[in-house]
Amino acid sequence: MQAAYDNNNIFAKILRGELPCHKVYEDEHVFAFLDIMPRSPGHTLVIPKAPARNILDIKPDDYAHVARGTHKIAAAAMKAFEADGITVQQFNEPAGGQVVFHLHMHVMPRMNGVMLLPPASRKEETKVLEAHAAKLITALK
Ligand code: 5GP
Repeated sequence: MQAAYDNNNIFAKILRGELPCHKVYEDEHVFAFLDIMPRSPGHTLVIPKAPARNILDIKPDDYAHVARGTHKIAAAAMKAFEADGITVQQFNEPAGGQVVFHLHMHVMPRMNGVMLLPPASRKEETKVLEAHAAKLITALK
């Protein structure tokens, strides 16, 4: 059986404003912010406001909201980064590659011929994240 949702996971704290983040989008149901260790420039995480550990416990309607948010961020990221493509990933439980246990979609802008960095390989500088968040916010307008 899968573990229960932990209210003190990092993304729950970001949602409650207890930890900082570079926010790019928010509506009634979803919140999107930059990954602190981006695998590509503009790597964004889209999360539900509803508490859900991953795809195995999220309510279908909440997952649909995350899909809508992901769709919106992907389009904005193509524009903001003049990307050639987008990779969307979502991991479930440690065996599935999940490290933070609040459901999140990874939205990663891609350029032809450029590999993704390995996960958690490098913490990006704040000023770079600020600039990337600003680009996405502009593209979302
Ligand atoms: P997972 O493997 O669970 O799908 O990925 C978790 C992601 O969260 C990783 O890409 C990692 O870089 C990112 N991450 C971990 N801690 C933080 C944090 O404190 N802030 C932000 N913005 N991203 C984080």
